[in-house]
Amino acid sequence: MATTSTSGQRFCDICNNRHITTYAICWCPECDENYCEKCKSHHDVAKATKKHEMISIENALKIPKGVQDIKISCTEHDERFVYFCREHEQPCCIKCLNDRHTGCRNLISVETVIHDVKHSPSFVDLESTLSDLQSNISSIIKDRTANLQELAKQKINCAENIRIFRASLNSYLDTLENDLTTKLQVTYKSKELEIQNSLADLELRKARVCEMQEHVNLLRHNASDFQIFMSIPEYTKYAHSYETELQGLCENELFNWTNITLNTTNIHSIKEHLTSFGTISVKRKVSNTLMKSQKIRQAQLTGAISARRKFDTMQFEEKYRLHIPDAENQHEILDCSILQNNDFLFSDWGNKCLYKFCSGKICRIDLSFAPIQFVIIDKESIAVTTENNIHILDLESLKILKTFLPGNDFNLNLDQLYSKTTTTL
Ligand SMILES: [Zn+2]
Ligand SMILES: [Zn+2]
Ligand SMILES: [Zn+2]
Ligand SMILES: [Zn+2]
Repeated sequence: MATTSTSGQRFCDICNNRHITTYAICWCPECDENYCEKCKSHHDVAKATKKHEMISIENALKIPKGVQDIKISCTEHDERFVYFCREHEQPCCIKCLNDRHTGCRNLISVETVIHDVKHSPSFVDLESTLSDLQSNISSIIKDRTANLQELAKQKINCAENIRIFRASLNSYLDTLENDLTTKLQVTYKSKELEIQNSLADLELRKARVCEMQEHVNLLRHNASDFQIFMSIPEYTKYAHSYETELQGLCENELFNWTNITLNTTNIHSIKEHLTSFGTISVKRKVSNTLMKSQKIRQAQLTGAISARRKFDTMQFEEKYRLHIPDAENQHEILDCSILQNNDFLFSDWGNKCLYKFCSGKICRIDLSFAPIQFVIIDKESIAVTTENNIHILDLESLKILKTFLPGNDFNLNLDQLYSKTTTTL
């Protein structure tokens, strides 16, 4: 029903049936009808409906649109849904039953499926999945943010190290510059001294020659020819010895021109070797964030209770391949599960046994009955269905701890099982 007006308000369904337009003030989830003030007062006192809990229109409109569209009645037959068909994953009204679901056997009353639904494992699981997701995302955000802050610090650190490297390179270059300048100074000083010594020596020689010239001039002007004749050999001897000495010095390259030049180290070879101050490397390590994930048992329960996901949209990947050895009869594996210690368990209806796979080994557990479905209760025990009963089985001793007959809805649900166990035991 739920007549919605365009302004995001709703009209009273009861008045609407009488072709009167009034705004609704509340909605009854059980009747799935909107009521105006007047119609609400009738609903509040009528015997069949007085226990219904109403929801204000304001709050009803807050329900997500897709959920608001879920109606309690069949749109095709205008009848209230009475069953939920597990085979079609659809609710069905009494008319649908004789229509589309004639061959369907796995029908559960709507009353049963919605019973205590807010505390059902699938709803609780959904809530805890969302809360786990939220906390996982939050801790990942926290971790990513911390990483970002750390990254900024590392960048500053690296920049500082580049600066330090540059400074040490500068100081190394300063040292090289000083060394070479010092060498230049030392070289210049020694060459300067050499030339200065040589100049002093030459000045001395020049003075001696000058003195001899003066003597010879004096001879020319004042001495007798005989005196000149007699002294020529002596002076000539000295003059020749001076000449020979000078010649010798010249031959020993003492008067060679001294040059100072600088051959700088080839800058290209430096550039070739020093192409960079360093390298920037990125390393990735596993984050410390631990993801909360659903326990296997919970996942199984959720899977078993509300397998609403469509198989054709799921992607499958082979994780394990287990080989069950041939037995006396044809295998009829009707159920499988993972135990709390991660062992695999299979039920074989055809051979009246269970198979347990633990670390690559297979172990056959013979039973006195043919198992159909089972659920894991705890470390030691499982609940197994047969054609007529549910047995609580101890996996160690293989003793049947308890047997009971299920009710009309023969469906293995751990919650129901617990309530049955507590009432029966
Ligand atoms: Zn009304
Ligand atoms: Zn109602
Ligand atoms: Zn129908
Ligand atoms: Zn069906």
